[in-house]
Amino acid sequence: MKILLENGLSAAGARALSEALARLLPGTSPRRAGGSISVSSGRPAIFSERLALIENLPGVSAVLLSDAEACPLACSAPPPELPFRKGFVIIAGPCAVEDAGSYARTAKSLARAGATGLRAALFKPRSSPYAFQGLGLAALPAARRAARAAGLPPVTEIVDLPQAARLAAAGFVLQIGARNMRNYELLKAAGRTGAPVVLKRAPGASLREWLLSAEYLLKHGDPRVILCERGDSFGGGRLNMRIMELAMKATALPVIADPSHACGRRELVAEQALAAARAGADGVMIESAADPSSALVDGRQTMGLAEFAALAKKLRALRK
Ligand code: PEP
Ligand code: MN
Repeated sequence: MKILLENGLSAAGARALSEALARLLPGTSPRRAGGSISVSSGRPAIFSERLALIENLPGVSAVLLSDAEACPLACSAPPPELPFRKGFVIIAGPCAVEDAGSYARTAKSLARAGATGLRAALFKPRSSPYAFQGLGLAALPAARRAARAAGLPPVTEIVDLPQAARLAAAGFVLQIGARNMRNYELLKAAGRTGAPVVLKRAPGASLREWLLSAEYLLKHGDPRVILCERGDSFGGGRLNMRIMELAMKATALPVIADPSHACGRRELVAEQALAAARAGADGVMIESAADPSSALVDGRQTMGLAEFAALAKKLRALRK
C-alpha cells in the first residue's frame, strides 16, 4: 500500500500519522520516502479492511493499492481444475434453451464439432421486460439431459440467490452475467456453492472491479473462477483485448472471451474469437444453434452449426 501525503505535512503531523498507522496496521512497518509512505503486509486484506480509516487520517492525500493488495486471492489463486476437457475451452450453444428437442440435437452437433462446454441458459436477464426471459427451472431436466447425452458440462446463468445452490446441486457450471457482475450478494451465494463460475466483465468495468468480483467468489469459498471478457456494450462492439490481456497478467485464473455478446453480429464473431485465442485466452464462449433465424433471443449474433464447426477447427489448429 502506498499512502500519498499532503504537501507541507508538519513533523508533528507526520508523528501523529505514524502512530495512527501503527494502531490501524499492527505488525507492519510503514516506510516513509519523500512524500509517501509504503506499507507491506503478509495479510494484504487488512489494507482494504482499514482503507476508509486510513484515507481519512489527517495528512493523507490518497491511498493506492496494487491489484495483488486489493484482490489478494484472485491474484494468487492457482489455475483451478475445470470440468471441461483439457486444453482450449470452447463453450457453445444457443443464447437460451428454447425447445427441448432441438436443443438436444444442437448440443450433440456442437460436441461433434468441437465444443467442450454447453451454453444452457434457463434464465435470461434482458434489457427489455417484453423480451423472452428464458424457460426457467421448467427446462432444467431437459437441459441436463441434453448436456449429459452430448457429454458436455452445461453452463447456466443465475440471476437470483436461490438459483445458485439449486443449479450448482444439479451439476451446472454457474454463470454470473455482465449485468450481475456487481451483484455482491449473488457473488457470495455463487461462491458458497463451490461450483465452477464463469464471471463476465460488466461493460465499462475496470480490471480492478472485475477482479474484485472474482475476489468475492474466492473469499466465499470458490476456487473455480473463470473470467470472461464480453466487450463494453450491450449493442454491437468488440472484445476489450487490452483488459483481457491485463487480466491474464494479473491472475492465473482462466480468462475466456465471449465475442458473440461483444460483437452482436455473427459475421464478426469468428475473427474476434481467433484474435482472443491468438492473444492467449484460455477459451471462448460462442453462441451457436442449428437455426439462428428462429432464435427468440440473440439470433443476430448466433452462428449456424457449420460456421461454428469451421471456427472450432481453426481454434483447435491455433490452440490444441
Ligand atoms: C449471456 O451470456 O447469455 C449473456 C446474457 O451475456 P452477458 O451477460 O455478457 O450480456
Ligand atoms: Mn445471448
